[in-house]
Amino acid sequence: MMFFGPASRLAFGVLGLMMSLFLLLDLFVDVVPDRADMAARLRGRLSESLTVQVTALIQADQRGALHETLKQVLKRDDDIVSIAVRSRDERLIALAGPHLAVWSLPDGERSTLTQVRVPILEDGVQWGETEIVFRPVLPSTFFGWLGDPLVRAVALGVLLGFPMLYLYLRRALQYLDPGSVIPQRVRAAFDSLGEGVVILDAEERVMLTNRVFKALHPEAAADLTGRRISTLSWLVGGMGPDKESYPWRQAMKTRREQLEVPLVLHGPGSDAELRLLVDAAAIEDGSARLRGCIVSFKNVTALHLANSQLLETVSELDASQRKIKAQNEELARLATRDPLTGCLNRRAFFEGADALFADVPGGERTVSCIMTDIDHFKEFNDRYGHAVGDQVLQAVARSLSSGLRATDLLCRYGGEEFCILLPGLDAKQAAEIAERLRSEVERRAGPSVRTSEGLNVTSSFGVAELRGDFADPAVLIDEADKALYVSKRGGRNRVTISDPATAEA
Ligand code: GH3
Ligand code: MG
Ligand code: MG
Repeated sequence: MMFFGPASRLAFGVLGLMMSLFLLLDLFVDVVPDRADMAARLRGRLSESLTVQVTALIQADQRGALHETLKQVLKRDDDIVSIAVRSRDERLIALAGPHLAVWSLPDGERSTLTQVRVPILEDGVQWGETEIVFRPVLPSTFFGWLGDPLVRAVALGVLLGFPMLYLYLRRALQYLDPGSVIPQRVRAAFDSLGEGVVILDAEERVMLTNRVFKALHPEAAADLTGRRISTLSWLVGGMGPDKESYPWRQAMKTRREQLEVPLVLHGPGSDAELRLLVDAAAIEDGSARLRGCIVSFKNVTALHLANSQLLETVSELDASQRKIKAQNEELARLATRDPLTGCLNRRAFFEGADALFADVPGGERTVSCIMTDIDHFKEFNDRYGHAVGDQVLQAVARSLSSGLRATDLLCRYGGEEFCILLPGLDAKQAAEIAERLRSEVERRAGPSVRTSEGLNVTSSFGVAELRGDFADPAVLIDEADKALYVSKRGGRNRVTISDPATAEA
């Protein structure tokens, strides 16, 4: 990883540049001395002085010493392969080294870097020449090249230069990291913010993230510097496919703050989810040029949870309230109704009657009362049993209540005795109602008792109306009861209106 990182690539680049610069400089100002040139000069000088020595020995006619001298020179100087002294008539006077094998310079040719000839003069006339064969200046084999000092210097330069450059550049790049240029106290303040915050550049690349943002998701903890925020799938996965709608893009495009854009973040592999609200605002420089965007993520998961718990509680409360209301209604019904027939009990009936009588100012309105008693009821009990008697009672109550208005009060007054108050009706109208109820009981009550067929159920009725001296409901009821008694005596299953108005009813 290290060797492909930006620091190592830069180090290679700089090293390459330095080499190129070095070679370019050498081209113009000879930074590296020309070894061939130097060798040519040195070899020329060596050959000259050798020839001076050779000339002296020839003039002294010391041939033996000449031979010895050549051998000594060859031995001392590694650079020399062979030496020979040749007279003008091509005779070899003395020689050292494998000269005949290596000497290849044709007659009359100028000296080269490896084949050097120097004339020997005697009294201004050429007597002969010294021939010297040198080794090649530049290496000719690969291993020879490896041993070349220049090649070694370059190799060493690269080997030492690269790690030094690498270390230096790595250090320098750390200083250039946009994250590391933020002073520690700014970073600390940024990290202490309660919301997750991300700073983007104008290209949507992440420049900086704070501690809370890093804690939002395992992938947020990685170094996101330089990554485009819209490519972070764990983050934008819950935002829908339309990248144009992302709040930071909208904020930078419209230069208007985007507020409380909802975002659901799913944890990896689990169904735990975070509910966030995203705010985004464009960052501009002094001349209103777009520089980037600041995006904040408010975690409202707890609020959301509390909200849904509250909603749950409210609906539970609602349900229990409904239950209480139903129970209260049931209690009220139990307190006011007769459990067998569902008619008002006496207490509730008299409360209603008192209210009704209080409503009647000075005889302006009329109230009538019907008293009714099931005929020979005892016989149903005796013949069919108490349970059937109960069913007869229920059937009669049904028939009675089906023929009444909502404002009328129907009460189970005694065992098989019912009392009805009819506000707004006089005795004549009440008698019509009573007649209808009578016929209804006669027609429907018996057949509606399913357990015993062919029951013949009838009721007797007495009707009275409110007059000036009826201050108390009990008086009116008593009047109706008297009329009922008349019906009983008169043969049952009939309607009788209380005395004063209608003896003939
Ligand atoms: P009449 O035509 O003269 O009114 O004759 P009756 O038999 O209806 O009158 P009586 O007063 O002699 O009998 C009433 C009977 O009603 C007496 C009682 O046992 C019965 N009774 C009263 N309350 C209930 C009840 O809640 N259920 C049943 N099954 N019978 C009841
Ligand atoms: Mg009876
Ligand atoms: Mg009775």
